[in-house]
Amino acid sequence: MAKGNINVSVENIFPLIKKFLYSDHEIFLRELISNATDATLKLKHLASIGETKSDYGNPIIEVKIDKEGKKLHIIDQGLGMTAEEVEKYINQVAFSGAEEFLDQYKDSAKDSGIIGHFGLGFYSAFMVADKVEIITKSHKDQPAAHWTCDGSPEFTLEPHDKTDRGTEIILHIAEDSTEFLEEARISSLLRKYNKFMPIPIKFGTKEINDPDHTPKTTKDKDGKDTTEPQKKITVDNIINNPNPAWTKQPTDLEDEDYKSFYRELYPTQFEDPLFHIHLNVDYPFNLTGILYFPKMTQDLAMQKDKIQLYQNQVFVTDNVEGIVPEFLTMLRGVIDSPDIPLNVSRSYLQADGAVKKISSYISRKVADKLKSLFNNNREDFEAKWNDIKIVIEYGMLSDDKFFEKAEAFALFPTVDDKYYTYEELYNKIKANQTDKDDKLVILYASNKDEQHSYIEAAKDKGYEVLLLDSPIVSHFMQKLETTKDKISFARVDADHIDKLIQKEDTAISKLDEDQTKALDELLKDVVPSEKFMVQLEAMDSNATPFMITQPEFMRRMKE
Ligand code: ADP
Ligand code: MG
Repeated sequence: MAKGNINVSVENIFPLIKKFLYSDHEIFLRELISNATDATLKLKHLASIGETKSDYGNPIIEVKIDKEGKKLHIIDQGLGMTAEEVEKYINQVAFSGAEEFLDQYKDSAKDSGIIGHFGLGFYSAFMVADKVEIITKSHKDQPAAHWTCDGSPEFTLEPHDKTDRGTEIILHIAEDSTEFLEEARISSLLRKYNKFMPIPIKFGTKEINDPDHTPKTTKDKDGKDTTEPQKKITVDNIINNPNPAWTKQPTDLEDEDYKSFYRELYPTQFEDPLFHIHLNVDYPFNLTGILYFPKMTQDLAMQKDKIQLYQNQVFVTDNVEGIVPEFLTMLRGVIDSPDIPLNVSRSYLQADGAVKKISSYISRKVADKLKSLFNNNREDFEAKWNDIKIVIEYGMLSDDKFFEKAEAFALFPTVDDKYYTYEELYNKIKANQTDKDDKLVILYASNKDEQHSYIEAAKDKGYEVLLLDSPIVSHFMQKLETTKDKISFARVDADHIDKLIQKEDTAISKLDEDQTKALDELLKDVVPSEKFMVQLEAMDSNATPFMITQPEFMRRMKE
């Protein structure tokens, strides 16, 4: 039996790891399954380039709870380690075998999907275990090794009689971490972090209907139909989908595939997304993913399902602040990049150059997609406008590059459900809607019902009236007013509209409640309301205290 000291410069690194390395103890499972996945992917790679005699087969990873023994097992059928390799990779804290592998097989392995990076993940096991064992048999023709460590810098390493290839990690769960012996807890962790990892992960078994058995129906002696019970079979409970949609080529996917992946991501969302954007870039950084535009609710706080960030199919976080432009955090979906560091702090992430590039790439991609949706099927785009406008308006407010691109497809709906781009709107109203300073006046309503009579009055004069009712619309208008030359927005019921009309001096006088009531009573009998509109407030100072207008549609009804 070999004995030795784990090669670290501090006296005892474990208390440090336990305290500082990860704030979340639960990620130990993600780290160990990542290592098991790496070990399997490495073997796959070696098999593909003929550097192993071992048969790759159909390897899986198994997670097993031994409640009585207070142990948690993570078992893989990957490339395993020789005793020498255990010394090298495990006993040297912060030496990453994953990185070494990628260095060694530079070109051929760069797309192998290997996760490890820092050479620290394994030690996260000591956050929840007070003793860890590794039993491992290399794909090379060498005896298996058994490493044990109780959390002190001392370890033991001895031979073992394991004969099948791969590695078993055994965690002796500490007294303060017994939650990780609960099936429900492990199951939910697996679902959270490992749902889309590339190697099948088994957690227990489950019963399913035997696909080879169709229950027979026979008549009993009374002539009644009886059906024999469906045969069940027990199969491995595989908790992950190793080939999630974002890892595939867009050309291999149908619209329905994207929708069903959406449901897989967000099992509690019943409404289909409006559309998706498949991200796929390998220069100057690697990134894949699928973003979905959901129907936006006005209440942004209600958007609980968020974009999920993955690194090589391992879930990292659903807090993508700083990685995705803020206005796009309202979208849903997945972003996967090996270039996003797994274990670093948020402030570091935000300063990271690669991350900044990712953010502007995503913003550009989203703009391109919106533009092509608009160009290819304008009618459909218009129909969706109400559900996506918040994102686009918010994007135009906060991101100048997005603003420039969005000019091509940002829409201005009118009260009559027409949709103009800014340019179209401009051309439409430039002749008729300027004030005496030659400023373009864009009229809008924020509520069709409340401002009905004003809207009709403006339309009667041949003006276009927009319907702008998103929660950020006032900021949006301000942005346009400062970006564009000589335009201003005016609500239909503002006095601004009179300047546009360019009547001589006008003033709005308000009637008090009693006067209004009296007038109302009076007019009701003399003015047929199906033919005329009565406005009690907006009238000229030199005219009668009310205005009767006859809108176009009423006029036409009469004809
Ligand atoms: P990293 O994964 O970042 O390289 P870890 O601390 O997670 O660092 O693991 C250290 C090294 O130990 C790995 O790079 C790998 O060489 C080795 N190792 C860990 N787990 C396994 C495993 N299940 N099978 C084979 N080798 C493993
Ligand atoms: Mg690792």
